[in-house]
Amino acid sequence: MPELPEVEALRRAFASRGLEREVADVDVTDADVLHGTSQTDFAGAVRGTSFSSVKRHGKTLFARAGDGLWLVMHFGMTGDLVFCGPDEAPPDHARFVFTFGDGGRLAFDNPRKFGWLELADDIEGYLEDNDVGPDALSLSEQDFRDIVGGTRGRVKPALMDQSKLAGIGNVYSDEILFRARIRPDAKASDLSGEQLGALHQATLDVLGTASDRLSDGKALPSDWLAAHRDEGESCPRCGGTLLHMKIGGRTSWFCPGCQEPADG
Ligand SMILES: [Zn+2]
Repeated sequence: MPELPEVEALRRAFASRGLEREVADVDVTDADVLHGTSQTDFAGAVRGTSFSSVKRHGKTLFARAGDGLWLVMHFGMTGDLVFCGPDEAPPDHARFVFTFGDGGRLAFDNPRKFGWLELADDIEGYLEDNDVGPDALSLSEQDFRDIVGGTRGRVKPALMDQSKLAGIGNVYSDEILFRARIRPDAKASDLSGEQLGALHQATLDVLGTASDRLSDGKALPSDWLAAHRDEGESCPRCGGTLLHMKIGGRTSWFCPGCQEPADG
């Protein structure tokens, strides 16, 4: 499922291939992908313009059509953006296709359909209306400590709560906790100052490194937890057996040997 690093890789691809190219045609092949706007209004807002900028906040991507509305893209479980040359066919499951004036295309590929698109006047207002918290990479250490340390319940769901901290999902919350050596079921408000500092640094390191690697078309490092989320796999740090448990309805992987409970 696309989390902050996957969407950041899409933002960088959009910035290098999707801006300042006139959108000559808009083909929405699945009207269900549009929320709060009709096919006609959607096409009308985009056709004839070129995207002037692209921004990411959390797991959401915003592309501005000329100096008008923002196209808001949510990628759900499997959503992706695919840029095609004039001679390449868009993917089979494309929900919409923009054709640029030069014949190239941009497709929103979404085989499992949970992604969607909408239009917004401005980003700040959109985030406020939808109760989206600050981007996980934008927070100062103090703000991060206040938000995570001030959350009731366990630390993993605190990291994943998009209204408090936007961008982190199931896989990267496990990775960040693994890096910070904190168990996912630790109570957030019991974490020590040192643990909260380690968690903030791990958040920056994990999301930053993953964004760079995915943007370069590389896999995540093999010594990360993400590469070992499976039955019988060993911890890439200490060699102990990894465990998993359900926390907040999501399967969470961790190493009981190198991750600690809260010590605050
Ligand atoms: Zn370990």
